[in-house]
Amino acid sequence: MNTTQHCPGHEPFKSIQPIEVTCKKCGAINEVFSDEIEKTHACSTCKAILNVKKS
Ligand SMILES: [Zn+2]
Repeated sequence: MNTTQHCPGHEPFKSIQPIEVTCKKCGAINEVFSDEIEKTHACSTCKAILNVKKS
């Protein structure tokens, strides 16, 4: 018997990339990860809401 088994728990690799978002208010660069792009992010410096664009 030649049985090839796949690991049932194997997840496909997700390509998560950090996106640099420049705060319009203070100019600080914040990194937002691509899997969290739909969340609301605030600037780490001035707490302004960042406008994260999908590219
Ligand atoms: Zn800011």
